Amino acid sequence: MLRVIDLSKVYNGNVVLRGINLEVEGFVGIFGPNGSGKSTLLKIIAGLEKPTCGRIIFEGEDITAMKAEKIARMGISMVFQISRPFKNLSVVENIATPLLLSKRYREAMERAEEICEFVGLDALKEERAGKLSQGELRLLEIGRALAMQPKLLLLDEPFSGLDVENARRVRRILRKIKKEGVPALITAHRMKLLRDLADKSYEMRGGKLAEG
Ligand code: ATP
Ligand code: MG
Repeated sequence: MLRVIDLSKVYNGNVVLRGINLEVEGFVGIFGPNGSGKSTLLKIIAGLEKPTCGRIIFEGEDITAMKAEKIARMGISMVFQISRPFKNLSVVENIATPLLLSKRYREAMERAEEICEFVGLDALKEERAGKLSQGELRLLEIGRALAMQPKLLLLDEPFSGLDVENARRVRRILRKIKKEGVPALITAHRMKLLRDLADKSYEMRGGKLAEG
């Protein structure tokens, strides 16, 4: 599915990732402290940053040099820690917007409605996204990624900044996604957060990955 081979990243002489090797099948978790390089790794996989060296192979194809848009079209969707919705559009319109590139309006809206239900935002689907709480925004962000029918989901700290109840909602949705067989790479700052979700987990420390 996804293979990361000997990947390193240096920012202005600062080594952020050192020789990362990783294979993703099913749900894979990466935990590690602040600044250890988790987000950098996900951004590189999504094509939002380029590695200093190393390769990324997705479904047999080398995507290392590909632009982010092309990687997204190949089926890798990233869920960001911070959601930046179109504040004046409704929840369902926010989910439908990226779909309008490839689908007719009616079809995009129908799909977006299904996603609203899947992520538990059904009751809020007509609400302006600008009004959502942080927990609801996280669900929206997951919904927008799911709308693209991804082959691989990258989830950067999906539980950060959420209270117990909202973290539980996110966990419930991630379990449903797992059940549907969509593979995912998930980061968190503590292993405990990923234990019941990840088939395999790794620890990131100082830019190095070890089996955790
Ligand atoms: P957190 O748990 O706080 O989200 P993280 O594990 O996701 O941390 P990264 O955001 O990947 O860590 O950052 C790893 C290191 O890379 C940090 O020292 C950070 O300052 C540095 N870094 C990240 N992006 C850049 C950038 N664009 N330019 C320079 N340094 C960067
Ligand atoms: Mg991060």
